[in-house]
Formats: sequence, C-alpha cells, structure tokens
Amino acid sequence: MNLTRFPRVNLTLSVTPLEFLPNLTRHFGGPDLYIKRDDHTGLALGGNKTRKLEFLIGDALAKKATHIVTQGATQSNHVRQTVAAANKFGLKSTVLLEERVGNAHDDYYANGNVLLDQIFGTTIETRPPGLDMNQELAAVGERLRAAGETPYLIPGGGSNPIGALGYVVSALELVAQANEQRLRIDHVVHATGSTGTQAGFLVGIEGSNSRIPVLGVSVRAPREKQEENVRRLARQTWELLGIRGEFPDAAVAVNSDYVGGGYGVPTEGMIEAVQLLARHEGILLDPVYTGKGFAGLVDLVRKGHFKKGENVVFLHTGGAAGLFAYRSILAPQPAFKR
Ligand SMILES: *Cc1c(COP(=O)(O)O)cnc(C)c1O
Repeated sequence: MNLTRFPRVNLTLSVTPLEFLPNLTRHFGGPDLYIKRDDHTGLALGGNKTRKLEFLIGDALAKKATHIVTQGATQSNHVRQTVAAANKFGLKSTVLLEERVGNAHDDYYANGNVLLDQIFGTTIETRPPGLDMNQELAAVGERLRAAGETPYLIPGGGSNPIGALGYVVSALELVAQANEQRLRIDHVVHATGSTGTQAGFLVGIEGSNSRIPVLGVSVRAPREKQEENVRRLARQTWELLGIRGEFPDAAVAVNSDYVGGGYGVPTEGMIEAVQLLARHEGILLDPVYTGKGFAGLVDLVRKGHFKKGENVVFLHTGGAAGLFAYRSILAPQPAFKR
C-alpha cells in the first residue's frame, strides 16, 4: 500500500513500542497480553489522533488553509492533539466543545484536556448538548471564510477517509513489528468511538491480507450502529487507497457491552481497568476510551473468550490527560487532610 501518494506531515514518534504485559498475564493466567503504545505517539501527551493528523494537517497545508476548525466533547483528546498540531504548523485554530456529559464535576470543565487546550491558546467555543455538531462546525467555517480566512474543517475525532489513513499506517506498522519480533498476533482489541481508528486499522490489516481479527470495544454507540459506521468509513478509506476488490464487511466486529451509562460516564469496570494496568504494569489508561476498552478485554479474558496460549494485543490509543478531569471518581478520598 503506497501511502506516499497523500500529503503528510511528520508528527508521530513511531515506531511506537509493542510490549509484553508480564504481570497482568500472570495475574489472569489466561492469554499472553501485549500492548501497542499508541499513547506514546509523542505530540502533546500523545494518542491516536496524532497519526490521523499527519494526513489531515498535510491536506490542510496542501489546500493553503490558514485556520483549523474542529469539534469534540468537553474532554476531547482529539481537540487537544489537533490544536497542538495546528500550532506546530503555524495555523490558527478554533474548537467547539460540546457539553456531552451531564452531572460532571468542576474538574471536567476546567482540568485535563480543557486546561491543555487553554495552554495551547486555541479559540474555544462551547455548545450545549443535542445540537448537530457537524452543522455547527460548518457554520463556524462559513463565518471564518467571510472574515477572509481559509478554514479547514476536521470532523470529530478526525474520522474521515484522510484521517483514517493514519490508522492504515498503524496497522502496517504493527504487522511489521510482529514479524520482526516473531510474535504471532491472534487478536487486537481497542476502544472505538468516532470510528477512524478501527476503520483505518482494518483497511491496513485486510488490505495487506494479514488475517488478524480486530475487536472494537464501543464507548458510545450500540454494536450494530457502530459496526455500520465503521464499515462505511472503511469502505471509503479502501476506495481512497484504490485497493483492488471490495472491503470485506465481515471483518468489522464491535462489542458494546462496556458503554455503561453513556459516553464519558464512569463505570465500575473502567475504574477497575485503570487501577489494574496502573498497579500491575505502571501504565496509565483513560476514563473515557481505553479504560472501557480495557475493561472489555479484562471481562472477555475472565469469561475465557481469549484462550491460554493466544497472543492478544491491546492497542492503547492514549487519553491519560482525561484522568485529571475524573479526579472525584478515581480518587474520592483526598490524600491530604487539611
Ligand atoms: C478518540 C479516541 C479513541 C477512539 O478512536 P476513534 O478513531 O474515534 O474511534 C480511543 N481512545 C482515545 C484515547 C481517544 O482519544
């Protein structure tokens, strides 16, 4: 697959590590657990959006854009990485933060990714829940154009065919790494939200005929809807790359059993997953995506879905900045009594 046909900037410190998790593997006594560290992509605390932004910012620069516009939930990791990337390439940015999670603690609106967005100096506009955020994005684009700017609109999560190319790269990178380490990967598991990660990753796996099953653990939509959304973007990405034949729809697999009360709403499983990986391996997950994704992996290991002797790779997509927004959930008892 020739990805050099697309404009691209350099933002990612790849190859990201592929590591064995010896302590958790011993703890469960089930499959051998590995982790692909896409939380260490290098830009502004890292995460999966950085890989997508290589192609999105590349495209924006090719189109002579002056101003990046994007949107996300209040604690969006995508928004944080996007504004950092825009700054690096001298582009202005405006971001729309949607108040998607009700009843949240003050930290949710001020700490974590919101604090970082403010340090990066982007223009933040907030929106109440329930609006059509794509329409809001388009309206801001029109306003900037009328003011003489050349806006470049990036959809939520950077999930369009251009952004998904970043995860085609990630899949090819993981396959090459596994070949190098002589590691037979039996399953890849990761958190899925706006779908660009799973769609791009599957296009990389299937387009290179690598035959590795990929399971997306949904953080928002029910299984069938999420599978349909992943499939649609995967087909478009397949077409953009001009791969022969058709994207194999049957490769798309999502489990939505770990969403709990909704997007960004904490679950017991998420809290346990964050603590398990931190306490056994010294690795930080996040409360919104990887905490729920890893909770799914843990539950499936306990249920015997993954067998002893199999090698299971968790694709860590980042997000630890969000931990600071969930302090009241993750550390309800203050350490200091003052
Ligand atoms: C955005 C995000 C995801 C989900 O990736 P999508 O491409 O939106 O499906 C997973 N983990 C983290 C930490 C994220 O920020």
